[in-house]
Amino acid sequence: MKTTGLIGGMSWESSLEYYRIINQLVRERHGGLHSARIVMHSFDFAEVATLQNEGDWDEIIKLMIGAAQRLERAGADFLVICTNTMHKVADVVQKDIRVPLLHIADATAEEIKSRGLEKVGLMGTRLTMEEDFYKERLIGRHGLEVMIPDEHERQIVNDVIYSELCRGEVTQSSRDKYGKIMQNLVASGSEGIILGCTEIGLLVDQQDVQVPVFDTTAIHAKSAARYALEL
Ligand code: GLU
Repeated sequence: MKTTGLIGGMSWESSLEYYRIINQLVRERHGGLHSARIVMHSFDFAEVATLQNEGDWDEIIKLMIGAAQRLERAGADFLVICTNTMHKVADVVQKDIRVPLLHIADATAEEIKSRGLEKVGLMGTRLTMEEDFYKERLIGRHGLEVMIPDEHERQIVNDVIYSELCRGEVTQSSRDKYGKIMQNLVASGSEGIILGCTEIGLLVDQQDVQVPVFDTTAIHAKSAARYALEL
């Protein structure tokens, strides 16, 4: 079994899910007392979020490369960044390490294509929904059509992530708001919805909308487990 390197803490609420899912799949595969070989770097998210808000991506890149190199030295055979947003710097990080980095958008796109869908709605942080690093990967590399909520809705989705979900708060009123936004994406033609932030799966799931949902946390963690198990 390969050793998985997790770059997490962004937030730890979702890193917990990665840890749980990867270990669960290893146990399902090998049974008994087996569990995953994992090394992890868990950031203090307040520090990272402050840099994001200040737009200090040079500093963020330094931190992320530092974490990735430490995990590599600690024996990680491959790396997983446990957040969609921080994939903004994934390509730069990959250049400075020798082991492969499993990209969350690639794993998600493969899952969408395997279900035969082409047009998907994307919900995540403003950066994930609005910038090219994520959407362009889905469109350019995987041939998907990506729809995002309108400006007002994007603000709601983003606020709920940073003011509630990343602080461990899950409320019915935010679930209702997300439900409406997902319905609007479906009404505009989305055949599926990407839960493109690793905490969104803590709030909504397949029961909240009639089209397939793609929970990036579960998809990414499962693809990491399969890679570690060499399946
Ligand atoms: N975990 C979130 C994501 O998947 C947001 C936190 C972050 O800014 O990294 O995008």
